Amino acid sequence: MQTCIYLDNNATTRVDPEVVEAMLPYLSEYYGNPSSMHSFGGQVGKVVKQARQQVAALIGADDSEIIFTSCGTEGDNAAIRAALQAQPDKRHIVTTQVEHPAVLNVCKQLETQGYTVTYLSVNRQGQIDLDELAASMTGNTALVTIMYANNETGVVFPIEQIGLRVKEYGAIFHVDAVQAVGKIPLNMKTSTVDLLTLSGHKLHAPKGIGALYVRRGVRFRPLLVGGHQERGRRAGTENVPGIVALGKAAEIELAHLAATTNKQKQLRDRLEKTLLETIPNCEVNGDVFDGKLRKNRLPNTTNIGFKYIEGEAILLSLNQFGICASSGSACTSGSLEPSHVLRSMGLPYTTLHGSIRFSLSRYTTDAEVDAVLAVMPGIVERLRALSPFNNDQADWLQGREEALVNG
Ligand code: PLP
Repeated sequence: MQTCIYLDNNATTRVDPEVVEAMLPYLSEYYGNPSSMHSFGGQVGKVVKQARQQVAALIGADDSEIIFTSCGTEGDNAAIRAALQAQPDKRHIVTTQVEHPAVLNVCKQLETQGYTVTYLSVNRQGQIDLDELAASMTGNTALVTIMYANNETGVVFPIEQIGLRVKEYGAIFHVDAVQAVGKIPLNMKTSTVDLLTLSGHKLHAPKGIGALYVRRGVRFRPLLVGGHQERGRRAGTENVPGIVALGKAAEIELAHLAATTNKQKQLRDRLEKTLLETIPNCEVNGDVFDGKLRKNRLPNTTNIGFKYIEGEAILLSLNQFGICASSGSACTSGSLEPSHVLRSMGLPYTTLHGSIRFSLSRYTTDAEVDAVLAVMPGIVERLRALSPFNNDQADWLQGREEALVNG
């Protein structure tokens, strides 16, 4: 297997070797079922309990408020469905245009099942307007589901300010915190959030494990029905190795959160600043104001638009140097669709298609950032030389796009 310079940590992360070590015995000798009456299973039940405490500690929750799930997508689905079932008379949901498909596609499905959904817009900085949120809320609003931090841009929403408005209308507040947990300190004890989703593989645990926080007192009906696991809130025999791994990963994140995020932020800032300085016609997509970088972004993420070229071409070129990054685009049924997030932010056509996300982790080194900085100017220059658009044509194209959009 080839190794690489991995700057795609919002997609998934390397499993921490300590996490692997912690989970291995539960793949081999300790294979008991935690629900069994015998002590062979019972000892496994104890480690599940410990992992629940570790996950709860990371987000400042009580362990009784944690339900283990299979992934972030399941957590989002379970939270949204549960919130609606708890309030069968209410038929309105508020979300944003820039959510992950794990939320957006559930909302779209719910629209076919008699629900009305408001998709809040975002501005050029990727931020929602709190007045638009307030104006959208009614007594019929059952649920507000808004992400903590955007996976593509790293833009962080003002979750507690949003939560205060949500509470005025008595709606349930779900937050998809898949990208925030382990990168931002969270404390559910002082929070307005009712339901919060997290996913193991974004914080150095393996794929296939996640958790949902359900505030005590919030009525919860399970998505998966069957046995009595997770106190009847998520049926199915527990993924014990995954749960142990998530617990260990949470413990490590909590112990090193401030130090690792500071280091990542320094590296991210150096990468971003130097790219902006050395490459003409590029800009940060995200919470940037008057050319100055603001704080409302994850410490590990930068999304940069390189005008007049295709993001995919940059990625392929980076790949040749063993560098993994990501474009904002999702490859949908063979056609390259521009990112719904960047589109919602109203980016010009010329930037939209040439946007790249670099996302760092605690394993990212100075040398890796140097390697990216060494090759990026050359890659962009070469692709621009090949690009069918010179700047005039790009402006013409932008004009055509605007004309089409405006009818
Ligand atoms: N929500 C956000 C913001 C994400 O970034 C992701 C994954 O990229 C998910 C949900 C889905 O998580 P999972 O891959 O664990 O299903």
